[in-house]
Amino acid sequence: MLKNSFFVVLASLSAALSQVAHTPLVGGKHYSFLGAAMYEHKTGAERLIDLTRVIEPTDANDPRKFVVHIHDALEEIPGKVRPKDEWYVMSDVELMNHVGTHIEAPFHCLRQGADLAQIPVSQLAGETLILDLRKAEAEGGVTLEQVQAAVEKAGGIRRDDIVFCQMGTTGYFSTPALQWLVARGMKLMGVDSGGVELAYDKTHANVNHLVLFRANIPLIENLANLDQLTQSRVRVYALPVPVKGLDAFPLRVIAVES
Ligand SMILES: [Zn+2]
Repeated sequence: MLKNSFFVVLASLSAALSQVAHTPLVGGKHYSFLGAAMYEHKTGAERLIDLTRVIEPTDANDPRKFVVHIHDALEEIPGKVRPKDEWYVMSDVELMNHVGTHIEAPFHCLRQGADLAQIPVSQLAGETLILDLRKAEAEGGVTLEQVQAAVEKAGGIRRDDIVFCQMGTTGYFSTPALQWLVARGMKLMGVDSGGVELAYDKTHANVNHLVLFRANIPLIENLANLDQLTQSRVRVYALPVPVKGLDAFPLRVIAVES
């Protein structure tokens, strides 16, 4: 019964907040709290931009579920005093791990590939090239020529760059486009679409994922706010929790402009 009342309190609290000012949008665009943009922070000459989508908890039937079970931890501590108007909650979380902005380790498709705990921090932070592929054709996926033109417009690619792609109507890539980025020495890739696979591939052979993973390059999917960046070369920190034996997990991705 007490558990139910917590959910009632939670539901009314979140309803009240969303009516007042809390407007998180799945997809992470322009969310705010009490009127302030949550995705950016300026300190001196630096500007931080959050490239992470807000995750809205779901119910257990959602194929991309992120279920939060809140329980009252005070109930589990005999004799604990309950201060008025306060609580002490902990949560069990049940999720499908490819939800929101998430990183995929090579282990996602390769049995012997690196898992989340085996991605070195050197691959998760650094100089990042932002490619604008919003005008790229949907048919057949982004081509090699379109990627090369976007790289040139962004000022060129360097060995050990992270590459983030702002996608348009297509979430697809041609394999030569990915192979070319891999051959340039890209160390981590990210897209604001749901993936980088081939267009119209009914075999689900993960051809393009394998181009990245065989080169030991992790992939971040569902980035947000790339349109808020003003520079084509920024510093990025993309930090998943290092879980052994896990293929993917949501993470926070922060860009720094200076
Ligand atoms: Zn995924």
